Amino acid sequence: MTDAGRSQGDVNRRLARILLDLHRCEHGRLEGDPCLSCGGGSSGNPVIRPGSVIGYTRHGDEIVMPSWADHNEPESWIRRS
Ligand SMILES: [Zn+2]
Repeated sequence: MTDAGRSQGDVNRRLARILLDLHRCEHGRLEGDPCLSCGGGSSGNPVIRPGSVIGYTRHGDEIVMPSWADHNEPESWIRRS
């Protein structure tokens, strides 16, 4: 348990949900899901597009925004140099 009384699994699930949210448009719809405001399918996150560098690992490899299709593959988040 963490000091807030939550299990590490709970924390991991909450963090995973935030990563999933990176694929939502500004109207709250996941990329490709119906979104009337986007005009059909949600166009996804307009701020961080797939392939964008969003940070670096401790080894200096780039952390990149994966495509929606590759979201659940951890290796797709890392671009090895
Ligand atoms: Zn939208």
